[in-house]
Order: sequence, then structure tokens, then C-alpha cells
Amino acid sequence: MSQTSEKHYKAKIVSRRDLSPDLWVIRVHPGGNFHYVAGQYATLGEERDGKLIERAYSIASSPYEEDLEFFIELVHQGSLTPHLYNKKPGEMLSCRRIAKGRFTLDLKSGRTHHLMLATVTGIAPFVSYVRTYYHDWKKSKAPGEHQFYILQGASHPNEFGFREELEKMAGEVPWLKYVPTASRPWEVPSWTGETGRVDDVIRKYTDEWKLEPEKTSAYLCGHPNMVDQGRGILQRAGWKKEAITEEVYFIPSDAPPAR
Ligand SMILES: Cc1cc2nc3c(=O)[nH]c(=O)nc-3n(C[C@H](O)[C@H](O)[C@H](O)COP(=O)(O)OP(=O)(O)OC[C@H]3O[C@@H](n4cnc5c(N)ncnc54)[C@H](O)[C@@H]3O)c2cc1C
Repeated sequence: MSQTSEKHYKAKIVSRRDLSPDLWVIRVHPGGNFHYVAGQYATLGEERDGKLIERAYSIASSPYEEDLEFFIELVHQGSLTPHLYNKKPGEMLSCRRIAKGRFTLDLKSGRTHHLMLATVTGIAPFVSYVRTYYHDWKKSKAPGEHQFYILQGASHPNEFGFREELEKMAGEVPWLKYVPTASRPWEVPSWTGETGRVDDVIRKYTDEWKLEPEKTSAYLCGHPNMVDQGRGILQRAGWKKEAITEEVYFIPSDAPPAR
């Protein structure tokens, strides 16, 4: 790490929350000034055998928070995540000093509705949008005319990551709707929420929420198959290309189906 300090911080993991055997949330103190806009990503890494392995991770925290928060999935055959997975609070990782990405909230196009579609960890940038907007709304800095609609897919209910926070906020503010949908509900019979994959329920909710393509920006984040299929569904329903923004987390090789 020392030879890369011009571009990198030594960031410290300050807390960790495990959701399932392959999903966890960490809070990280970046180790220096780190500026970002909700929806951007940080580049985290770990040096192995003299080589820095780095990957992009969407930031779930809001720029108003001191620490950074990440929601990470373990890719068993991956180069970085097995090492990140072994890290406990107090341990360090590298974090590039500069945040990147253009997957930010569109508050300028005139479209005041925002439809957000995520698979599992793809919820991270939307959590950042919501926390940031909430902070501004509370301080009456945000005009308040924007409406957020979030659909998040996962195989099982324990994988939603920020469900409790989003449900609580949706109960408190007039501008947020949040629907988690489980694609393998038969494995958790106690689940009484929505079922199916995100792309299975997009039309149901765009109809139910009466979302009009001209007034609604759409954001798709996470698994490449969901992003692909979701985009197709939205375009067939009238969404124009310029109203759709995407963040694909990896290039499919033999990718398992979207959750
Ligand atoms: C802008 C951006 C933001 C991202 N944000 C997040 C985030 O918030 N949380 C997060 O967990 N990941 C996120 N990712 C993915 C992350 O950057 C890594 O690709 C991922 O953690 C795997 O890294 P790895 O080194 O362990 O696996 P790699 O060595 O990079 O991958 C090994 C193989 O696994 C495949 N693969 C990679 N990821 C997955 C996956 N999730 N499911 C199935 N197959 C996969 C790859 O195609 C490759 O064939 C983001 C990616 C991008 C581009």
C-alpha cells in the first residue's frame, strides 16, 4: 500500500454487518477527505503478493455522513471479494482518493418521478440517494416535488440489506415507495411480501404507481441480466433511452440468473 499512497487512502473498517453467508455491509473510515455525490462509487482494494487488486463499489452512505458504507457480495471465484470478506472491523483496505461515476440522481431534466430498480447490492446507490434527499428534505433544502419508487430483488428476504431503513423511511415521508421482491419465496414460507424477480414485477408497479415515461427517470443497478431485461421492458412501455440510466456491476460470463 505504501507505494500507492498518492492515489490511495488506507481506509479502516469501522463496523461490519453480515446478512447471509455471502452478503455483508461495512462502514469504512476513508482515512482522509473523500468527496462524492450520491450514486457514485469508490474503488476499494487490497494488496496481494505485491499487486493491488481493486474493484468498484457503489457508496450506500450519503455525503452528509462521515464514514462510507458499502454493501458487498462475495464472489467465491473472485479475485478481491474473498479477501474483503475475511476483513474484520479495525482492519484496513485501500480506497482511491477520488470517487467516480455518473449514476447520480437526475434532478435537472424536469422529470420529477424516479423509478429505481436493483438486484441485491445494487440497492446501494439508491440508499445514498434516499439518505441524501431525506437530509435535504428535512432541512427544507430540497423542493420536495421529487418522488422515489424503489423495487429491489433478491433470492431471499434476508438479502435486502437496507429493508428496515427503507421501509421505515417510506412510512415516514410522502415521497418514497419501496417494494422488496423475493425470487425464491418457497424457501422462506414466512415471507408475505412481493414475489418474483424485479423484471417480473416492473409492469405491475409502473401501472400501480401510475408512472408516466415522460415524467419518470428510470435507474437500473446490479445484475447485467436484470439491467438488460429491465431496460427492454421499460422501452417497450414507452421510456426513451435518455430517461434510463444504468450501472452494471459485472460483465456476464456464465452469470447465474438475476435474483
Ligand atoms: C460501478 C460499479 C459498482 C459496483 N458496486 C458494487 C457493490 O456495491 N457491491 C458489490 O458487491 N459489487 C459491486 N460491483 C462489482 C465489483 O466491482 C466486483 O466486480 C465484484 O465485487 C467481484 O469482484 P471480485 O474481484 O471478487 O471478482 P472478479 O475476479 O472481478 O470476478 C470473477 C468472475 O465473477 C464474475 N462476477 C463478478 N461479480 C459477480 C457477481 N456479483 N455475481 C456473479 N458473478 C460475478 C465476473 O464476471 C468474473 O467472471 C460494482 C461494479 C461496478 C462496475
